[in-house]
Amino acid sequence: MIGKTREYPKEIMILEAIVRRFPRDDFKKAEFERKLYRKRAGYKGEKALDYFLEQVDHSEMVILNDLRIPINSTHFQIDTLIITPYFLLIIDSKNYAGTLIFLPEFNQLIRIQNDIEEVFPDPILQTKNQAYQLKTFLKKHSMTPPPIEYLVAISNTQAIIKNPTNDREVSYRVFRSSNVAFKLPLFYQKHTQSLLSKNDIKKIARHLVKAHEPLIPDPKSMNLPFNKMVKGVQCPACEAFGMDYHQGKWTCKNCGHKTGDAHIQALRDYFLIFGSSINSKQFRDFTNVKSSSTAKRLLTSMDLNFFGTTKGRTYSPGKNFFD
Ligand SMILES: [Zn+2]
Repeated sequence: MIGKTREYPKEIMILEAIVRRFPRDDFKKAEFERKLYRKRAGYKGEKALDYFLEQVDHSEMVILNDLRIPINSTHFQIDTLIITPYFLLIIDSKNYAGTLIFLPEFNQLIRIQNDIEEVFPDPILQTKNQAYQLKTFLKKHSMTPPPIEYLVAISNTQAIIKNPTNDREVSYRVFRSSNVAFKLPLFYQKHTQSLLSKNDIKKIARHLVKAHEPLIPDPKSMNLPFNKMVKGVQCPACEAFGMDYHQGKWTCKNCGHKTGDAHIQALRDYFLIFGSSINSKQFRDFTNVKSSSTAKRLLTSMDLNFFGTTKGRTYSPGKNFFD
């Protein structure tokens, strides 16, 4: 069963809002676009692995996706954790494109793409460290972990994987995501002793899910040009900003598209960039709604929590506002 689903990362939502509303002539926009591209590729790789894992028999295992667990003064992250009665298995997904050359002797992964050579941290060493940290965490919470295995999944189907030194660890631990159903049996053959009861498995899963702290980066630490971020309601059809609100509908000045709820995405962007609180005046300023009674009607029609009296009232996202 899936003990923890993979959710669309808040970090990517924040980057999307920033890129959408970044002043177009600011050279720093490209830096955020690159970061967003990289994060989306990583997420896509994780989803690709999820897809192939869904086709494996789940009955005896619990799968926890996307864990970020505090340890000492830092965190360790696990893309996918599979808990079986015999072993735990960490899978780290990499969605790198190009030619990937594993050189474990120096803990290096070389990537060649478009004649550009780059070095990445050794993903086998990364997952090995995750295994070590997971073991430490479980012991600290008085749980005796069974053997912890680790794998590196290459999700990009275009990637060329090379292991020039014929390193056994590389051939054992690196695999293509599509091959996961054939990789798992190797570990069942290696670890045959049932060490965890159903209750033990549940206990481990519960502890990890409880300790999970999602990464929510703070835009205030990103040096954004806050005063120049693009305001207005964006047209979902042509992406132009500055839709007008008349008689219950948003109308695009650029393409004429009409829609009822384009202010929801605008408000999401506002919360993601400026923080999770807005008052009526700020909402009117951001969406260019002139009338305060219209603003109030729009604000109270959305899944928002509000605080304070009529005049100083502030609104913040409700539980499902970002779903
Ligand atoms: Zn439009």
